[in-house]
Amino acid sequence: MSDLTIPLSGEAVTATTMEDPTRIVTDQPTKSDTDQSISPDVPLVKNMEYQHKVFVNRSVPLENIKCYGFDMDYTLAEYKSPDYEDLGFELLRDRLVSIGYPHELLHYTYDPTFPTRGLVFDTMYGNLLKVDSNGNILLCSHGFTFLKRDKIQDYYPNNFIQRGNTDRFYILSTLFNLSETYLDGCLVDLFTRCSRYENCQKGFKHGDLFMSFRSMFQDVRDAMDYVHDTGSLKESTLRNLDKYVVRDLNLPVLLTRIKEVAKVFLATNSDYNYTEAIMKYLLETPPGAKYPQKTWRAFFDLVVVDTRKPLFFAEGTVLRQVDTNTGKLRIGTYTGDLQHGTVYSGGSSDIVCDLLDVKGKDILYVGDHIFGDILKSKKRQGWKTFLVVPELAKELQVWTEKNHLFEELKHLDIFLAELYKHLDSSCRECPDITAIQTRMKKWRLSP
Ligand SMILES: [Mg+2]
Repeated sequence: MSDLTIPLSGEAVTATTMEDPTRIVTDQPTKSDTDQSISPDVPLVKNMEYQHKVFVNRSVPLENIKCYGFDMDYTLAEYKSPDYEDLGFELLRDRLVSIGYPHELLHYTYDPTFPTRGLVFDTMYGNLLKVDSNGNILLCSHGFTFLKRDKIQDYYPNNFIQRGNTDRFYILSTLFNLSETYLDGCLVDLFTRCSRYENCQKGFKHGDLFMSFRSMFQDVRDAMDYVHDTGSLKESTLRNLDKYVVRDLNLPVLLTRIKEVAKVFLATNSDYNYTEAIMKYLLETPPGAKYPQKTWRAFFDLVVVDTRKPLFFAEGTVLRQVDTNTGKLRIGTYTGDLQHGTVYSGGSSDIVCDLLDVKGKDILYVGDHIFGDILKSKKRQGWKTFLVVPELAKELQVWTEKNHLFEELKHLDIFLAELYKHLDSSCRECPDITAIQTRMKKWRLSP
């Protein structure tokens, strides 16, 4: 898990743990919120909203950080939800129709209330599952029909899946996966309802054709690769940046301040042309800007595109220079020193350390991808990490607003424990806990 976590972007540091969000203590004013004696020169930020807070899993003295690295997509470049997912969904849906899926699919439009990040698609039975960290099933839907407990047990007798079985279970873990998740639901819904198709346990039959859930899922995955590889998602995004990308005027200020005290680099899997357009939009000539104008590249000591994370944090790929006039790569491997203003393609985290003359432990890397950005950089290279989790703000809001329900459940749990506390192996009578169970159920279902 990352050292720091942030819902979107922010400044204040408060204490909590990501492993157990129930242990969050940040709703109370922290010492730094209230204690003027910490530093009279530091402006205090009070009553900050959750999306502006940074949460920590361990103490990280920022004065020891010599270098800050940033991912771009969903980190520096925040995509507007649900417009961006909506766009992704339409491109995927239209692609599937163009390769032969029924035209009825075009009737579906993206519903942001259905998908959530981290759902698991069962390629054998076509179900979308929400599971806990041990693989216990919390929710299960077939298309958009949520299954009741007994039906879930028909599919999964132990109410459990082996999440490690990645050949069968696919975890839709990134924000880019949201539109794909919804499309998986649409396909199952469409074929289940369509009278031309016969419902089977592992797919649908139409005449002598059988279409498995696995093949449908693979078609969606391939369509996903198609819209990314052909650049159609990028093209549509760049055509309407105001609609799809959040422009935060604090971003140039933040990067300028960081660069005054540390080295700063950008390491993105996106290609140069897309990176150039997005970063230009985010950092150059925003309306009403009060700071001196400079090119977006001047905000960084090093810019690396096409990084192919997580490979970047292992053996990496060949490092090439990008011709910033044409966007084309220069042939051959770059072997020289760091040149300011130069953009590189590929490479590895080791090369970044060499070029910037910093050690892994001195780097704090900010990214949104738990696997590609955070786990690999931390475990393989010892970088300190900072995970962007936009959902956290909503989670904390619910946790705060519904705190009375959680407290009530805790009390009922304690009451239940009291009932059993004095029983030993000689007891033959079971206490009547029906009333407590009913109350617990009521609170759990309470909106
Ligand atoms: Mg990203």
